[in-house]
Amino acid sequence: QFFMLKRPNAKTKPSIHRIRAVRVGQSDLGARVPATSILRGRTVALFGCGAVGGPIALELAKAGIGELRLFDPDIVDPGPTVRWPLGRSVYGQNKTGALVRHIAANWMHANVVGHRMVIGATPDADDKYPKEGEIQLFEKLLDGVDVIFDATAEVGVQHFLSDWARARGIPFIYASATPGACGGIVARFMPGDGQGCWRCLQHALYTDKTIAEPPFADNGEILPPGCNHPTFTGASFDLVEVSLQAVRVIVRALDDRQPRPESGYAILSFDEGFGVPSWRTGSIPRNDECSCTG
Ligand SMILES: [Zn+2]
Repeated sequence: QFFMLKRPNAKTKPSIHRIRAVRVGQSDLGARVPATSILRGRTVALFGCGAVGGPIALELAKAGIGELRLFDPDIVDPGPTVRWPLGRSVYGQNKTGALVRHIAANWMHANVVGHRMVIGATPDADDKYPKEGEIQLFEKLLDGVDVIFDATAEVGVQHFLSDWARARGIPFIYASATPGACGGIVARFMPGDGQGCWRCLQHALYTDKTIAEPPFADNGEILPPGCNHPTFTGASFDLVEVSLQAVRVIVRALDDRQPRPESGYAILSFDEGFGVPSWRTGSIPRNDECSCTG
């Protein structure tokens, strides 16, 4: 504790105030969370900061991630905040900016930056995104990342990012929930481990059906007033199951104190009685017709 001597003046007597000191160094905050020593100095690029990605950003910041690069073009609309970490205080702000400010205000050891770029769109011509090809811009924005994470639930974005990461030897992880939040998937791809790629997994799930896909609700999508795109129904408390598992998978992929994990998937379902979440896991089979086998 420190004592502050208030400067006396002609009218008041000197007075002493006690100021409570707190410990807020990196080692003080990391002492309770072993994962901090794994995440410190590491960089994760997180694409999609919605219902699944938003909680991931906060959990990584709390757990001591070194650097977080957030990518999402959306603004915070009131409707979706029923399944987002922040609410009324950030209505109308862009999602990445709201998360960056919240993290900076609360867990200041994480270096977090936000980018509002739309993957597949022409880059903005403003100061932040100068006129240049998207590929060149991407190289710059993803320079030095240790993991590329996709929580966009957009198949085209997953396809692009998984190829991008694979070509550069960077681990790629994606997570998404199913319509109705009846289930979800987290899949990890570790380049060079001989297992299948993102495309191989999609074939196994949706074409060959050698891996049972996560459960979903047939009527699990709605088009809310004011939206130009259908969204899925589902509560935050179920979606966060996917986010939390995704964070564990990210930490495990970055843990160089243990043997490097292999590519694999974890698929979520909830039991009918208590709604208990359960995960089944497996490796990624290679598809003979996929170009990754060449
Ligand atoms: Zn493949």
